[in-house]
Amino acid sequence: MSDSILEIRNLTVSFDGFKAVDGLSTSVKKGDIHFFIGPNGAGKTTLLDAICGRVKPAEGKIIFKGMKDVTKMSEHEIVELGIGRKFQVPSIFMGITIYENMELAAARKRSLYSTLFTKLSREQTERIQDVLQKIGLYEKRYRTPAALSHGEKQWLEIGMLLVQQPEIMLLDEPVAGMGRKETDRTGRLLKEISEKCSVIVVEHDMEFVREYADKVTVLHEGRLLDEGNMHKIQQNPKVMEVYLGR
Ligand code: ADP
Repeated sequence: MSDSILEIRNLTVSFDGFKAVDGLSTSVKKGDIHFFIGPNGAGKTTLLDAICGRVKPAEGKIIFKGMKDVTKMSEHEIVELGIGRKFQVPSIFMGITIYENMELAAARKRSLYSTLFTKLSREQTERIQDVLQKIGLYEKRYRTPAALSHGEKQWLEIGMLLVQQPEIMLLDEPVAGMGRKETDRTGRLLKEISEKCSVIVVEHDMEFVREYADKVTVLHEGRLLDEGNMHKIQQNPKVMEVYLGR
């Protein structure tokens, strides 16, 4: 049996005839931290958009667990299936506490008002506590997110995904704007998460990729340029060329 959790088959996403992703095939292994890298405009964000159902491809399939083609599903159905995405734009509510933000996420509700009518199960409450410990915000849970550092806000967002128990987590530049210490902490968090949930990351920070990647896929002009471990990627002169623009 295949150990891939997501298979991307001959995927093409077009905008007015321009192919942002062009015939891409690759697969994501269960339990991997899988990075997608490449210069600006390579198609990385468009690929995440296609996986989470935000854009629909012109061609190709994205098969979840060998069965479901998510390109046929709505964004909502894809979340329900267990594919969660953290966007670059923050989705935290600043006027309520960290704990209430986690409650909203656990209940999958978009307003605090609706959580007033949703009683969380004991299991959900325990899960919130567990995730708060994991992301290092348990002690601060009754504060509002405004008091958090940039890194802590990113971890809260990751926690808000995690509490929904996804099988795949999609992250777009999770360490952008972080210092080394916060970056390393994020890396360790992703390693821990990957024990239960595959993590797909679009990233520019090569040091971070080198340290934490199980697999790297390099995109260039919407196509796959190379993939494998970081050692292999670094040996490829074509990869160096697109990065140095020569
Ligand atoms: P990356 O994330 O690797 O920087 P993107 O996926 O954002 O690349 O973009 C790939 C290409 O597709 C770029 O040339 C970009 O201008 C184009 N593109 C992305 N989204 C749209 C859109 N909604 N409409 C038109 N062109 C787009």
